Amino acid sequence: IKILDARFVTTAVEPKGYPTSLAPEVAFVGRSNVGKSSMINALTGRRKLVRVSNTPGRTRTLNFFDVDVERGTKRHTVRFADLPGYGFAKVSKSERSEWQKMITAYLEKRRDLKVVVSIIDAEVGPTPDDFQTLDYLQESNRQIMVVATKIDRLPKARRKPRLQALAEELSLPREAVIAFSATEKLGFDEVWDALLNTLTA
Ligand code: GDP
Repeated sequence: IKILDARFVTTAVEPKGYPTSLAPEVAFVGRSNVGKSSMINALTGRRKLVRVSNTPGRTRTLNFFDVDVERGTKRHTVRFADLPGYGFAKVSKSERSEWQKMITAYLEKRRDLKVVVSIIDAEVGPTPDDFQTLDYLQESNRQIMVVATKIDRLPKARRKPRLQALAEELSLPREAVIAFSATEKLGFDEVWDALLNTLTA
């Protein structure tokens, strides 16, 4: 897998601000501070495409990026949608409902959306917010991929058992949970392969 180019497209809060169709879209969701920005940067081969925040809960918009990727001799363009992180304790009720409106409008209406990557902290495991989001995604009949990030935080011997346990907790087959680490660059090929396999199926 080789990244040829990655570029920012636009920011939106409402459907009328979404970019017009160009490529199949992959949305990234996760609780804030889970490592979503770091993952998108790692997957696009860009250190600062998305700002990695020290203050969680900052991104309150949908951000779109286009990525040109090469696998074997084939080139693909994939659009990434970075959805605002959820579950940040300090947000007010009204902010939470704004978030929900923004997310549900996107997840329910967006035609280009082909896969939702649900990011879980490998060390922490799924939180109640994660379960709620996954339930919602399953009900909306979206294709889901689970990526367990920050796997570097677990000693090597604990990684496989943890992934197995995560899959069981989420009622998913073991292969449906992919391990990732932005800091140690683990899982890059695995995530891209899974994405491209789904998008080209
Ligand atoms: P976001 O709020 O979900 O976008 O999360 P960020 O990408 O901003 O990351 C939140 C924090 O987790 C930052 O301090 C990152 O340096 C750290 N982080 C992100 N990915 C990893 C990872 O794979 N491993 C480790 N150990 N830390 C990470």
